[in-house]
Amino acid sequence: MEPNPLDDRFSRQVRFAPFGTKGQERSAAATVAVVGLGGLGSWIADHLTRAGIGTLRLIDRDLVEESNLARQGLYVEEDARLGRPKAEAAAMRLAAIGGPTRLEPLVAELTRRSIDRLLGGCDLVLDGLDHFAGRFLINDWCRRERCAWVYGGAVGGVGTVLRIDAEEGPCLRCLFPAAATAAGVETCDTVGVLTPLPALIAALQCSEALRWLAGDRRAGRLWHLEPWEGRALALKPGERSGDCPVCARKSWPALDATEDDVDAKLCGRDTVQIAARDGTAELDLDSIATRWHGLGTVERSRYLVRLRRDGLTLSLFRDGRALLQGTDSTTIARATYERLVGR
Ligand SMILES: [Zn+2]
Repeated sequence: MEPNPLDDRFSRQVRFAPFGTKGQERSAAATVAVVGLGGLGSWIADHLTRAGIGTLRLIDRDLVEESNLARQGLYVEEDARLGRPKAEAAAMRLAAIGGPTRLEPLVAELTRRSIDRLLGGCDLVLDGLDHFAGRFLINDWCRRERCAWVYGGAVGGVGTVLRIDAEEGPCLRCLFPAAATAAGVETCDTVGVLTPLPALIAALQCSEALRWLAGDRRAGRLWHLEPWEGRALALKPGERSGDCPVCARKSWPALDATEDDVDAKLCGRDTVQIAARDGTAELDLDSIATRWHGLGTVERSRYLVRLRRDGLTLSLFRDGRALLQGTDSTTIARATYERLVGR
């Protein structure tokens, strides 16, 4: 029999008996989504590519910035200088790792309108986000679609991980009901973080993911790690809440929200995001690049068209979403967008 060239690549992982050949084969057949490719998601994507996941969907809305480089895996200075979308830069680095994993970079924001398209068909979802609004979207969607997911958080010196099963056990709303109402103003910035903490938490999320993919259905632990303080807890996640709208009443608050998505919001320091348009018609970025000729410095890449002028940088994506760097005013951002793109 011909030796399988992948045998050597994954031999150490396969030799770990609880994972074994079965775990490798199931992982190779799985489609896994990583939502958010920042401090957590970049390391998650690295681990899962090296582990030989079949298809990895890489979902992120942002561009690489210099302040990312201290703790986010995969990215290099060139990505920040060129303002590459994280999904694009991550896919480039992961492709260089090689191996059998099929990479699907998606430069997009997870919203209740886009979530079916972005997560549909996945076997498992990994949370690389830094805000609870997005996590509750994942939570509600995954329970509705009976899909398991792995929550991860890393803020300051505290990291938390929990695998939330497709149907069994508590969901994120059961455990953190207050987070749903205390979301406040959402930004992409965190209050600071210990540099190695996201990599530690991402590794733990991947450990839970691989255990689930290998078919081990024992309940996940609620991990609470504070490496700086020398504290580590692995708690039983507890019971479902009788007050949880998702588990007790089969309603999906994050998916059914009736208020309109915010049209323009602060997204990191000095960056405002203008939301994607409704409807399906994609923008013709080539003709916009032509129209912008002479207004400033125009760049065109596979995923976006970009205009730099008067200290502002407008990056426009096919779905109409845009990031305006150089201002923290949603009013200026909306006016600039309307003038240059229309509405
Ligand atoms: Zn619940």
